[in-house]
Amino acid sequence: MMKYNGILFSGKKLATIALVSALSIPAFAAEFITIGTGGVTGTYYPTGGAICRLVNQYKKDTNIRCSVESTGGSVYNINTIKNGELDFGTVQSDVVYQAYQGTGKFQGDKVEKLRSVMAIYPELFTFVARKDANINTIMDVKGKRINLGNPGSGNESTALALFKALGIKTSDLAFAGGLKAAEMPDALRDNKIDGYFYMVGHPTANIKDASNSVDVKIVPINGKKVDKFVKEHPYFAQADVPGGMYKGNDEGVPTFGVKAVLVTSTDVNDKAVYTVVKAILDNFEDFKKLHPAYSNITKESLLEGLSAPLHEGALKYYKETGLIK
Ligand code: GLU
Repeated sequence: MMKYNGILFSGKKLATIALVSALSIPAFAAEFITIGTGGVTGTYYPTGGAICRLVNQYKKDTNIRCSVESTGGSVYNINTIKNGELDFGTVQSDVVYQAYQGTGKFQGDKVEKLRSVMAIYPELFTFVARKDANINTIMDVKGKRINLGNPGSGNESTALALFKALGIKTSDLAFAGGLKAAEMPDALRDNKIDGYFYMVGHPTANIKDASNSVDVKIVPINGKKVDKFVKEHPYFAQADVPGGMYKGNDEGVPTFGVKAVLVTSTDVNDKAVYTVVKAILDNFEDFKKLHPAYSNITKESLLEGLSAPLHEGALKYYKETGLIK
């Protein structure tokens, strides 16, 4: 079966066309594109919404209609793009790297058709704990109830990689949770967990919700072993969760982060990818106002932190506008 202008054609192609014209539906019906994101209270979901809003402004001219889907996160998005069920997705750059190279969660399962569109904004690996849980360093997770992330999330993938580097086993925890991102703040408030990890762009509604309902502490993730772990991987960078973003957390807290990358696959046509890139970049100043996590991004920074090759449709726009020579 092939997808053409949003209509699925099987062997009955001619019959379908006859039916389409009999109903006087335009022969070139809209092409639908879907962006996979993350939990609705995270930063991926509003990012997908912001992108679709810009893309849909041009739908009369482009015939492309964009919709956004809440999903389980980075790993889920790549697997679903690979299967052709999603056209685009927001994905952590460490997960992009592993999928394209066939390492980590993608060991022996290289996603060769994965393509980058742009590296949108920085995400920081954030350890949110209940204040009364007495967790002051990353090593204090031992014996505690900690949510690592649902299978399919980038959080879980990065948490397990970090644990490995620090010599922490999930069996060292009293409970290693697999709750979805949207469920984490309530679980923290209800004292079902002592803390959770979230790789996310700040400020995010998810952590605001948590800090408004229970006293929370953003726990530093640092030390010699963390430094080594960050240096060993090209897609990690050290950074602080800025102070003043969440109630009770006025100082910056050291950790490390990645980029949130918009990805697609070689199965998606050049026109669709070009249209998405053009919609964002032709309206870049407006786009930047759509979420505070974008406050420091530049057109140039969109090209930093890409670990899969650029899609041809994206490359066309970047070359036309001189961003890539
Ligand atoms: N980085 C997270 C993940 O891949 C999602 C963050 C978000 O939804 O903003 O699981």
